[in-house]
Amino acid sequence: MNPSPYQPPNDVLEVIEATVTWIQDNYSQILSKECGRGSKIFIGSKNPRKCRYCGKDEQDTSFRKVAHAVPELLGNRNLIAYDECDRCNDYFAVNLEDHLGKYLLPLRVMSLTPGKKGHPSYKTEDGNFRIDIIDGEFKIESHDSDNSWEIDEELKTLTLHFTRQPFCPLAVFKSLFKIGLAVMPKDLLPNFQRVLGWLLMQDERNGPPESTKVFQTFIPGPRPIEGVQVNLYERKNQTSNVPYMMCLIAASNTIFQFSIPSPEKDAKISGKQVTIKKIPIKHDLYWPFGKPLTRIVDLSNADIISCDRGSITMSFEEATRVVYG
Ligand SMILES: [Zn+2]
Repeated sequence: MNPSPYQPPNDVLEVIEATVTWIQDNYSQILSKECGRGSKIFIGSKNPRKCRYCGKDEQDTSFRKVAHAVPELLGNRNLIAYDECDRCNDYFAVNLEDHLGKYLLPLRVMSLTPGKKGHPSYKTEDGNFRIDIIDGEFKIESHDSDNSWEIDEELKTLTLHFTRQPFCPLAVFKSLFKIGLAVMPKDLLPNFQRVLGWLLMQDERNGPPESTKVFQTFIPGPRPIEGVQVNLYERKNQTSNVPYMMCLIAASNTIFQFSIPSPEKDAKISGKQVTIKKIPIKHDLYWPFGKPLTRIVDLSNADIISCDRGSITMSFEEATRVVYG
């Protein structure tokens, strides 16, 4: 099965151009951090050591563990934080990143990104469905009774249905903006003191009332994004009604864009309806494996969600059906 390339029509191109202008008018990109494999990059100081989250130094906490500034589950092996203490590291792993991992698992598996062990594959628990990528083509094996996928030969789309393991949406949101705070230039951290406190609070219900909505984009096809990229965009004009800090995280087939809550800087827009636009990406202009799909996800729920179902649709150019007797 070969996916069909995506190229936007002229009216969509005009919208993209207008959005680029809006972003440039309202925000300055202040940071672009790339990580993944390769030689190690360090954030923070080794001497003296101080945790950027709880504020404790070596007198009051320990720094024995290797803390990844961006979770390893997103593909980061080399961006290491000297300024994350062991206690905060444990807390983030158990209370935040575990939920992010469960939330992203179906996307990571179904993105068909080649992993450590070579050919990636996905199969359902009952063994009735299996998908592989072989020589750049998707190969699907399925029993007639299986309903975890459907194919529309007229529209030339393949839709996969999945069920997530139980997870907490608000913990997913926290783990996303924690990544933004992990790479944040130190001189800007005072603008996030209240959310730093919220980040370390066990009770998810005691959060600030800022927006927990994120743009989540899925880019079909193998390896659309190499490594992990984290960008920060700071509001240009302090009087404009847009959130103070925007963060974009791109890894594998998924891009998240959201504002990092800053009660200190966003007091005047608190409770107001504000406009945020999705930052265009190069895959919006042309992508050989089909159209990137963006949706707005509300991650405000502090409860554990069970049986969260989702689906991914990919378009294709050509399919060959093989029936085994
Ligand atoms: Zn700490």
